[in-house]
Amino acid sequence: MIVPASAAFVAAAVRPEIRALTAYAVAHADGLIKLDAMENPYALPQAVRERIAAAVALVPINRYPDGGADAVKSALRRAFGIPEALGLVLGNGSDELIQMLTVAVAKPGAVILAPEPSFVMYRLNALYAGVRFVGVPLLPDFSLDTGAVLAAIERERPALIFLACPNNPTGNLFATTGIEAILRAAPGLVVVDEAYHAFADASFLPRLAEFPNLLVMRTVSKIGMAGLRLGYAVAAPEWTTELNKVRPPYNLNALTQAVAPLLLAEDALLAEQATRIKAERSRLHAALCKLPDVVAYPTQTNFVLARVPDAPRWFDHLRQEGILVKNLHGWHGSLEHCLRITVGTPAENDALLAALPTHR
Ligand code: PMP
Repeated sequence: MIVPASAAFVAAAVRPEIRALTAYAVAHADGLIKLDAMENPYALPQAVRERIAAAVALVPINRYPDGGADAVKSALRRAFGIPEALGLVLGNGSDELIQMLTVAVAKPGAVILAPEPSFVMYRLNALYAGVRFVGVPLLPDFSLDTGAVLAAIERERPALIFLACPNNPTGNLFATTGIEAILRAAPGLVVVDEAYHAFADASFLPRLAEFPNLLVMRTVSKIGMAGLRLGYAVAAPEWTTELNKVRPPYNLNALTQAVAPLLLAEDALLAEQATRIKAERSRLHAALCKLPDVVAYPTQTNFVLARVPDAPRWFDHLRQEGILVKNLHGWHGSLEHCLRITVGTPAENDALLAALPTHR
């Protein structure tokens, strides 16, 4: 509890822009169908759980984990075809990688640029690090305004550009030609954030050798391992060497290091779940498109962005019906009355569709 005496010290010590923030609120989901956080809805098969239990039982929890997390790196290289010639840095979720990238470029006067609306942590991490953030609005259909980004690059000379591709919360993939033009024009690092790569038709990972200023960032959170907190960044070793200097030692805990390689070896399971999620995504998207006064945007992710007649009312109604989605109304001018709905299991998606207020 903050007593008044502490409040005075806080006011004297903590930066005003931090005091003005509210901490990232994670909604309580107990007992609800959870379609708010882009998680994979499928539980692990029992046999896999047993292998995890056996591996975890052997972890020496009294010891610090492997600082280099070598077993996890090998598993990622194998699972995603990352060549040895490329550098690899791991984060406690890609959230931590965003923080490391931001800190690494945070010289006085540096600028970080990203389209908006996009993943909010780009802007927030710039604020934490005291770096100026420039948001370039997406076009009304949420595609990349390449001309505006190129003009902003010319004007601001950003040290770091984040392109979430596919984008969160809009769900779309940006045009390859636009990203290429940005890579050629940027004076600094361009991070293509492929958090949703498992559900998308395109990736810049195979193109790393072509662009010396490209870093591809990904996470295992959306493919069934959100609880492990593991993100990875792939780039030329010149970049990853520097990022490793701002990486907290032992940032990947021992339990994650024991479990992630086991799950990353489950190629068939991971592929099958992604296929199921994509099929359900099509069904959910098509069903939403049929509803009167609802616009469901095209998506290459495991969620659907939908503009509905009254998002706050729909959100409250769904919650009363036991379903948690994300209400984006009020987040950004272009997201008015938008809900972001994570693709669930067939039964969860049926429950969502049946509970939508249009059915009353
Ligand atoms: N990038 C994007 C585009 C995201 O949507 C998210 C999660 N919402 C992240 C990064 C962070 O993922 P994590 O920290 O779970 O790896």
